Amino acid sequence: MSGKPEGNLAGTALTEEDLKKKDLLREEWSETGLSYTWSAGVAIGTYLEGLKEGRLLGVRCRPCSRIMVPPRLFCEECFRTVDEFVPVRDTGTVNTFAICYIRTDASRQKKPQLPAVIELDGASKGMGILHLLGEVRPADVKIGMKVRAVWKPARERRGDITDIRYFRPWEPEPGPGALRPKAKKAAKPKSKPKPKGKET
Ligand SMILES: [Zn+2]
Repeated sequence: MSGKPEGNLAGTALTEEDLKKKDLLREEWSETGLSYTWSAGVAIGTYLEGLKEGRLLGVRCRPCSRIMVPPRLFCEECFRTVDEFVPVRDTGTVNTFAICYIRTDASRQKKPQLPAVIELDGASKGMGILHLLGEVRPADVKIGMKVRAVWKPARERRGDITDIRYFRPWEPEPGPGALRPKAKKAAKPKSKPKPKGKET
């Protein structure tokens, strides 16, 4: 078979020389000196302002009663504009996660990053944000584990998702009316004590 693509397939066939020289990918960057400013929009703009104040916001759509995070202005299920911003909690549940030992430039990192999708408490089921996990060993991360946001100090927050440093494992404290597990009674021995004098 020749190295040429068959039929009318578009593209350029690689030569042996290309493979030897590894001349396969090319990146070209030029410093333009341009800077950009753009509006985050009402929904995400309000969300980012909330982060600066140390709170997470969602939006509520009344007809379907969903609370969506991150906020958006339009309910894709009801085909209508949402009704209001509502606070959600900074605690949640790990929905899914990854253990990343490789950086975006394909170099290795010893301490892996742990990106996770976190379903936030107070939002509708399945509504969550992508963030990092911290204060946890990769082997201990589980889908369904409860986590809580670790915020930057107020003076360091600037209306950015990194105003939350990461989410760490967290156990909810039982409320005042919650049943506390009863202290276990000392287990009675099931078998009768051995008759004395027969131990060797
Ligand atoms: Zn809706």
